[in-house]
Amino acid sequence: MRRIRRVPILVIASCLFFQFSINSVASANNSSPSDSSSPTTSFEPESTTTLPPSPLKASDIVLISKIKTKDPVVFITIDDGATVSKNLARLLDKQQVPVTTFAMPEMIWRERKWYRARQNMTFENHTNSHAYMTTITPRQQRNELCVANKLIKQIIGERPIMYRPPRGSWSEENRVAMAKCGLKYAVLWSVVIEKDVPQNIMFRKGDIILFHYIPSLPDALKIVLEKLKKQGLEPALLRDYLK
Ligand SMILES: [Zn+2]
Repeated sequence: MRRIRRVPILVIASCLFFQFSINSVASANNSSPSDSSSPTTSFEPESTTTLPPSPLKASDIVLISKIKTKDPVVFITIDDGATVSKNLARLLDKQQVPVTTFAMPEMIWRERKWYRARQNMTFENHTNSHAYMTTITPRQQRNELCVANKLIKQIIGERPIMYRPPRGSWSEENRVAMAKCGLKYAVLWSVVIEKDVPQNIMFRKGDIILFHYIPSLPDALKIVLEKLKKQGLEPALLRDYLK
């Protein structure tokens, strides 16, 4: 629980502006998602798909906010998924930036063409509805995580293995739901970057850097990438270090 105190107010505030409606997900029918559906915000998960039972136990769950490594790498993670752009695509693609995305399924579904086009990106679990995971029942926790895993598998083709608590709302109780849903790693962060990048910021090996998909992301990310290069560090994928 000690680590939760490290969650900066800034992040909590930034997440609060994010208004995410679960209504369209809740009212989903049995149709399968496809690119031929109309460009609306409706999201239609396929209820017949099931994921295999997870062999994980609550005691297997690992909570991290940094990666222990001697490699000169850091980890770029981007949350929520609301705003993407051609600018961002250009930046990521040009430099082949490895990114771990923690976005809700509905956000990925809305911009599925954009997300599916990224070559060096993996998709992890950030709950289905950006839930406060410390205030809902164990059954609701399981629902949030398992539904998100199932939907991301349907949209992207690969099932998440990591979970980032929305607003850092981590509870030890979440380990049970994570294990049930096959999520081994609870991933917090060691550095937060919002709109403005601090001029003298120094990164360290193994840092997990938290960004959000907000309009200022391309500018902030560009500055961070330049600073990383100067500091002899390069971005890597969490999946290459957490198996
Ligand atoms: Zn979030």
